[in-house]
Amino acid sequence: GPLQNHTRSLSSSPLRMSEHFDFFVIGGGSGGIAAARRAAGYGAKVGVAEYSRWGGTCVNVGCVPKKVMFNTAMISEMMHEAHHFGYDIDTSRVKFDWKTIKHKRDAYVKKLNTIYDTNLEKSAITKYIGKASFTGPKSLRIERATDAGGPLEVTASHVLVATGGYPQPFGLPGEEYTISSDGFFELEDQPKKVAVIGAGYIAVELAGIFNALGSETHLFTRGDTALRRFDDMLKTVLTAEMKRAGMHLHPGSTPAGLKKEADGSLTLSLQNGQSHGGFDTVLVATGRMPCVDSLNLPAAGVKQAPKKGYIEADEYQNTNVEGIYALGDVCGKVELTPMAIAAGRRLADRLFGGMNDAKVSYDLVPTVIFSHPTIGTIGPTEEECKKKYGEDNIKVYKATFPNLYYGPWTVAPEEKPKTAMKLVCLLPEEKIIALHVIGMGADEMLQGFGIALKMGATKADFDSCVAIHPTASEEFVTMA
Ligand code: FAD
Ligand code: NDP
Repeated sequence: GPLQNHTRSLSSSPLRMSEHFDFFVIGGGSGGIAAARRAAGYGAKVGVAEYSRWGGTCVNVGCVPKKVMFNTAMISEMMHEAHHFGYDIDTSRVKFDWKTIKHKRDAYVKKLNTIYDTNLEKSAITKYIGKASFTGPKSLRIERATDAGGPLEVTASHVLVATGGYPQPFGLPGEEYTISSDGFFELEDQPKKVAVIGAGYIAVELAGIFNALGSETHLFTRGDTALRRFDDMLKTVLTAEMKRAGMHLHPGSTPAGLKKEADGSLTLSLQNGQSHGGFDTVLVATGRMPCVDSLNLPAAGVKQAPKKGYIEADEYQNTNVEGIYALGDVCGKVELTPMAIAAGRRLADRLFGGMNDAKVSYDLVPTVIFSHPTIGTIGPTEEECKKKYGEDNIKVYKATFPNLYYGPWTVAPEEKPKTAMKLVCLLPEEKIIALHVIGMGADEMLQGFGIALKMGATKADFDSCVAIHPTASEEFVTMA
């Protein structure tokens, strides 16, 4: 198409050309692509620079390949549970080939990369494969490979920084023996014995996948539990379910370093003096850092937070510099793909769609942790709600029960995996200000409740909705 020719003529030129854009986006990930395409839809002249693969973290080393592995793990779990339903499956004879799903997953991701690429072309967005950095508030240098035409400079009336983040390094002796979540997606073979260090979304999700697929999995958390900042009910049930699933939990374990033994295995030493050995894989998931170093932010004067150097942006995604905006993981506020996408679209609506007050709401963002079982959460913890409004102004509804799925299981009732739910209500109207759930199907359950909470639903509104039977989510409208 005309855009392709345009890109090609730029690439083949030996000269450093300067082109002007209405909107230039640094980072072709969730937020950047969403903002670029929305802006182009309004007729803006848009350029995007990406130095890696289209789609960013989510598509390449995040949500998408993670969910493929979660689904793979779920099949393993169901196979192990099938005997409760009359199936005769000798699970010791089931062969699972990590390589097969790894390569199928890679192929799927590659297809998505192409779709993103095509969508940018359809939107007539000029694409640059290269690293973009500021040379001034409205000018950027793009380092392209020589065979792509070499470096060039562009200017823009509006610049969006949507450069995402990367895994925070281990920072301790033995760093070189560790992998991060990025490395997880490169693993060609399934680890036999794996240590996962960390306590957040990523540690919990990846440890859960390893464990369900049969790797001997050890989770090291420096605190008492994983997901320390989440509601108590979620932590308690998750801890019990991870144990039930055979995961080895090591609370109170702050790492001190890692050593490679003569036999090639890895030994993790802890600050409490303990050490644990025999690992073939050690995965570190202790948080993420914003991608800011490549940007030469001082040239533009963009302000960064003291913490990790996140870019500071207001509720309209404005940075301190007029005409420069930032959103998504590089701001470190709510690090979720739909958050970055929504922020990107609202920004484009505001800048190019005539919606002068468009902004995204960071309140009551529903989020799911693809743990085993899954967790769904909207709003603050019960404790935070009580602290904010006073204990007397809060009423909490709870339910804990085994999903009907476990009905025919021939195990004692206390051995059946639990679903736990909680509604935190603000008196006197009993407006629901938080909703938490852990259990089978929590992931697919949450979106609709997210809408209800955004609309300001009360407990009475929930009660006025007729239950869907037999489901687990019906419990949310029948709580007494
Ligand atoms: P990104 O998607 O990271 O995109 C930034 C892009 O900018 C990257 O492609 C990068 O290469 C590029 N870039 C950086 N610097 C430059 C530069 N100077 N020049 C050119 N290009 C540059 N979120 C969910 O909602 N659900 C999930 O299930 C989920 N699972 C996850 C699992 C894992 C393992 C991880 C790591 C994250 C997960 N997330 C999930 C979070 C989600 O991936 C991020 O919140 C989201 O990708 C952030 O989007 P973004 O646009 O801010 O950045
Ligand atoms: P998180 O910030 O969620 O968790 C990192 C955890 O590591 C902290 O909670 C902390 O736990 C622990 N930690 C930090 N420093 C150290 C240290 N030095 N030693 C030991 N432990 C440490 O980061 P993640 O990397 O897990 O995920 C990043 C973000 O990506 C998430 O917050 C989420 O927004 C997004 N994401 C979303 C997913 C989804 O939607 N399903 C899936 C994956 C990621 P503590 O303080 O308790 O010790």
